[in-house]
Amino acid sequence: MIPKTEAIVLKSFDYRETSRIVTFFTKDYGKISGILKGIRKDPKKFGSSVDRFSINDLVYYHYRKSDLHLVSHCDLKQYYFPIRQDYKKNLAANYVLELVDTIMHPEDVNKKVYQLILDYLDSLQTVDDISKLVHMFQIKILVNSGFRPHIDTCVLCRKRVKGRVRFSMRLGGLVCPDCPTRETSFTVISQGTIASMIHIEEREWNQALRLGLTTNARKELKFILNNFLIYHLEKKIKAQRFMDESEIYGSKY
Ligand SMILES: [Zn+2]
Repeated sequence: MIPKTEAIVLKSFDYRETSRIVTFFTKDYGKISGILKGIRKDPKKFGSSVDRFSINDLVYYHYRKSDLHLVSHCDLKQYYFPIRQDYKKNLAANYVLELVDTIMHPEDVNKKVYQLILDYLDSLQTVDDISKLVHMFQIKILVNSGFRPHIDTCVLCRKRVKGRVRFSMRLGGLVCPDCPTRETSFTVISQGTIASMIHIEEREWNQALRLGLTTNARKELKFILNNFLIYHLEKKIKAQRFMDESEIYGSKY
């Protein structure tokens, strides 16, 4: 099989003297790893330098018995210059690549997640509200990868909840005041934040982009989404620390 598809570069590393191994998230075949033989000896052999978060047209020989495939053609399609020129936007792009690499299993085809990455990168070029884009991406990738938090009703009794309620990382959703649990690691979430999350989940990317987020909603989203992802992925996202240090979320919280 010789698949031909569009692909985003998630990460890459040098291999032996002249080659490079790249992890791509492809539009049609999910996450795959490929070797670009000779790319460092002859950079013109491929029409791309396979930099992170670049979009490329890819052709590769798919080996059935190996997780590493042989890339025959790789041509650059989109480089996202405005993101690369901005330190914070660069961090925000790399954060999302690491998130996708952690959440998506190899060869798990997911065109919605592919489109989500494109929407995110396109917006990141022009929109300066980086924290809103990051939260939108987090909310939407959770929905599209089967990790959606339970925020419509109480996760235990399924009753509707009102006012400020508890959010349980372990149970992955809201817990009403009537439901006792032995858990101590609750955080409080307000109705405004829950409504914002549901709005972002249900709307198309460009529609959701118009939503205004209050300082309180941003504060709650940052805490809940970052911790929820760490809890359920059982893995720390390394880029998260750089995001926190760079004040991408604003200095107020
Ligand atoms: Zn309940």
